[in-house]
Amino acid sequence: SASYPANTVDQALHLLQTVFGYPAFRSQQGQIVEHVVHGGDALVLMPTGGGKSLCYQIPALIRHGVGIVVSPLIALMQDQVDALAEVGVRAAFLNSTQSFDEILAVEKKMREGELDLVYIAPERLLTQRCLELLEIVDIALFAIDEAHCVSQWGHDFRPEYIRLSILHERFPQVPRIALTATADQQTRDEIIHRLQLENALQFVSSFDRPNIRYQIVEKANGRKQLLDFIQAQHAGDAGIVYCLSRKKVEETADFLNENGITSLPYHAGMDMTERSRNQARFLREDGIVMCATIAFGMGIDKPDVRFVAHLDLPKSVEGYYQETGRAGRDGASANAWMAYGLQDVVQQRRMIDESEANDTYKRVQGAKLDAMLSLCETLNCRRVQLLDYFGQPSEPCGNCDTCLSPPTSFDGTIAAQKILSTIYRVDQRFAAGHIVDVLRGIDTERVQQWRHEQLSTYGIGSDKSEAEWRAILRQLIALGLIAVDYENYSALKLTEASRAVLRGETKVQLRQYKKAEKAVKHKRQS
Ligand code: ADP
Ligand code: ZN
Repeated sequence: SASYPANTVDQALHLLQTVFGYPAFRSQQGQIVEHVVHGGDALVLMPTGGGKSLCYQIPALIRHGVGIVVSPLIALMQDQVDALAEVGVRAAFLNSTQSFDEILAVEKKMREGELDLVYIAPERLLTQRCLELLEIVDIALFAIDEAHCVSQWGHDFRPEYIRLSILHERFPQVPRIALTATADQQTRDEIIHRLQLENALQFVSSFDRPNIRYQIVEKANGRKQLLDFIQAQHAGDAGIVYCLSRKKVEETADFLNENGITSLPYHAGMDMTERSRNQARFLREDGIVMCATIAFGMGIDKPDVRFVAHLDLPKSVEGYYQETGRAGRDGASANAWMAYGLQDVVQQRRMIDESEANDTYKRVQGAKLDAMLSLCETLNCRRVQLLDYFGQPSEPCGNCDTCLSPPTSFDGTIAAQKILSTIYRVDQRFAAGHIVDVLRGIDTERVQQWRHEQLSTYGIGSDKSEAEWRAILRQLIALGLIAVDYENYSALKLTEASRAVLRGETKVQLRQYKKAEKAVKHKRQS
């Protein structure tokens, strides 16, 4: 193979400054570039906005041949190529949006060695035609962007990604660099295993985003709380509001618009033109709030998103981290705000339970949800918990809700026993609403119908409000002390673990309920 000047570092720095116009490499960029230039495989874990692109763009310019970038983000390829053209890098792309003539033209340039970088959609790359083309051109490297798409457990799973191991089999001499912003150990292991990157050097950047303030509040009336939050802290700012369903996306956008906040919907059920129009407006105009499902955001590079809000619980910490990571990419302070309640836990558990997937998949999803719930219920610093999930120990941050106003905990054993025995006494046949009514001694039609006013637990919880009981119930479900039977009208049931609590053998420490306060307007730190 070809030899390279000993001073790769100088050469790389020179390109960084003269082509891209940046004075210095950030974090591990320099080492990654050097490693790949010398033909090594790499796995790069860097948060969104960390600067992954340069890690393969510069080596592609230094090494002989064309750099092939595999990316699922077809919608962004044109922009990426245009941006490179602006600084004089010869780039092109191959995907399903092009005409045959356009494809022929790119292929010709590749054969003639006139391109530095070509972005290719995975399904295109895997065609016989494309693989044969790659056999006859000089390839500088393969960059596999959004590499977490190989993970079957993640929400961005793309079946074609699994077949990318073919790159190693057919082109063993070509270095490969896989890049992702998702960094939990399981995804990391899957990328290494499925892409045969066992010999790759791993570059793990810090996942901390110190300018993002994490806040998770008790959900009372989510939309109204969201409005208060935006009005108090983000008037006129650009932001993203994530909702679980398309319907809720539409309703939330309407609600914000009615209240004077310019908001647009974005979800997979809308037609393509409207979706891209909304996305373009969000990117171009100031102060638009995008209400979206998780279909929105991958690869979106808008630096001044000042807040990301969740009106529904994400399925995993990876999802939460990626979505909140779209805030504050310019480094200025930003908020990640979420409203979370009993219904979220019930709904997410139900979605896992009712899915058609096999038991292993359900178990993995259940464990991911548990980690997300424990982030919501934690009495510790949110950031410590979040970084810990990605295998990075840290100290309390001083810039999250639990650091700024520490939650109090209380011995919830007796409250738990009251709930559990009520569930038991109504034969584990009733849902949360009725259980709370019985505890609080409310005289409803259903109570009368079933004569539940005669139960010994009727009214034993009249000292607490409905919201407080729901918060306790939510935590007990999150802790696995109560199960929800979705096949029977979401009836609450006891679990193995709850018996120990009822017998007084296990104590339960719970987070003290905090009444939703009106958000206080305070100046952003700079
Ligand atoms: P990622 O793909 O990791 O989300 P990008 O590669 O899109 O991140 O880079 C994010 C932003 O940071 C871009 O605007 C990019 O130009 C900028 N950037 C990357 N590396 C550097 C650097 N060494 N110095 C200054 N800016 C950089
Ligand atoms: Zn903190």
